[in-house]
Formats: sequence, structure tokens, C-alpha cells
Amino acid sequence: MREMICICCPMGCRMTVEKTADGYLVTGNTCPRGKAYAIDEMTAPKRMVTSSVPVDGGNFKMVSVKTAVSIPKELIFKALDSLKGVRMTAPVKEGDVVVKNTAGSGVDFIATRNVDKC
Ligand code: SF4
Repeated sequence: MREMICICCPMGCRMTVEKTADGYLVTGNTCPRGKAYAIDEMTAPKRMVTSSVPVDGGNFKMVSVKTAVSIPKELIFKALDSLKGVRMTAPVKEGDVVVKNTAGSGVDFIATRNVDKC
């Protein structure tokens, strides 16, 4: 049995997960997202990855970026490596692709805000 806190929303439900003959028994979750998260944590944990990259010619020097969806935990450092040396040029729009298919995950790093030209 394993205890965990669901990180899918601010409620932070405390859950327990137990392996059974049929799969996993999850208790303490308020909604189905918690159950899915708990099973993912037991089988193939994933995380959103956030960082920032420099912007040339913009009203901000940096733009925050994140993976478009969660990626396997074991790819986090490789994904962060893929941002090394990356620079954007203003204007940057929220949702612009910063690195495509980071770490071979099939997931892009995207900008999370607008940076206007100055
Ligand atoms: S189980 Fe549902 S309500 Fe509870 S923290 Fe997770 S997403 Fe939020």
C-alpha cells in the first residue's frame, strides 16, 4: 500500500493505493482524475516540466516555458537539456513551440506567455 497526495488540483486529496489481483484499489480521491493520477504514479509517473529561455528584442528578457502535457519522469533532465542554448526572438506568443518533441517524448515545450517586440 502506498499513500500519496493528488497534485491534479488545489484540493490535494490524500489517497491510498493498493495493488490487488485485478489492478489497483484507490481510496481517498474525490474525483476520477485522482484515481488516474494514482495509477499513473504506480505504473508510469509523469510530470509537467517548466523552465524559461531568453528572448531577444522583447519587452521581457526571458519567457517561461512548459511541456504541453506531462512527460515520463525519467525524461525530465533530458527535456531540460533540450532547452540549453535555445533563444526566442520577440514577438513570442503564448503557445508558441519552443522545442519540438523534447527528449523524444512526442511532447513540445511551449511558451506560457506573450513577449512583445520592443
Ligand atoms: S482527486 Fe480530484 S478533487 Fe482530489 S485533488 Fe485530485 S483532481 Fe482534485
